[in-house]
Amino acid sequence: MPTGAVEDLDLLIVGAGFAGMYAVHRLRGQGLRVRAYDGAYDVGGTWYWNRYPGARYDIESLEYSYSFSEELQQDWEWSRRFPEQPEMLAYARHVADRFDLRRDIAFATRITSVTFDEGDGRWLVTTDRGRRVRARFCVMATGCLSVPNVPDLPGADRFAGRILHTATWPASGSGSSAPAPRASSASRSSPRSRAT
Ligand SMILES: Cc1cc2nc3c(=O)[nH]c(=O)nc-3n(C[C@H](O)[C@H](O)[C@H](O)COP(=O)(O)OP(=O)(O)OC[C@H]3O[C@@H](n4cnc5c(N)ncnc54)[C@H](O)[C@@H]3O)c2cc1C
Repeated sequence: MPTGAVEDLDLLIVGAGFAGMYAVHRLRGQGLRVRAYDGAYDVGGTWYWNRYPGARYDIESLEYSYSFSEELQQDWEWSRRFPEQPEMLAYARHVADRFDLRRDIAFATRITSVTFDEGDGRWLVTTDRGRRVRARFCVMATGCLSVPNVPDLPGADRFAGRILHTATWPASGSGSSAPAPRASSASRSSPRSRAT
């Protein structure tokens, strides 16, 4: 869609983690025009961003799996009870492939404002890529832990070395094959984040 044009949706979803992915699948299946937006370059949410060495589940994999599809449950085999982050991300990507979720997800795009237009009863949404969207409904699948918490350490701004944050860890550090998060001097979501 060209920059500046207004996209009309029944339902806009913010976030393509496990909640947003399921919302795309479920609500599009009801015949609604649906699109999810995520600042990440792929699905997975928490398991896309938090790729620091040693990141893993503390919930048993079978309990953390989607249960809406018996076929999905049968064709995915977990390697262990408490998988590491690369396997979690691989599972999310497998689900996205299997249910063709990405065709209704816009990646590398952050939602910057959501306002309700009382006049026509629509949400007016803008993105950091200049897109404008009108939607009857918005689902905030933004997660409860998706904004990195950067500790306010005295003197950190004078530290000359490289500063890493677990939530914006460079892709090469974990062996994951997913595209790298935007680990730059600016945070993905918090102006306080200084991860590099
Ligand atoms: C380090 C870590 C370890 C965890 N370990 C476990 C565990 O072992 N077991 C467990 O049960 N839970 C764990 N959790 C909790 C985990 O967040 C949830 O289990 C689950 O993954 C949340 O899924 P979600 O889809 O709701 O949100 P998320 O996975 O957080 O996805 C939200 C998505 O929304 C996107 N987003 C947010 N704001 C915007 C915006 N304005 N515009 C565009 N996109 C936006 C983000 O980029 C993100 O991709 C952990 C969380 C963290 C951070």
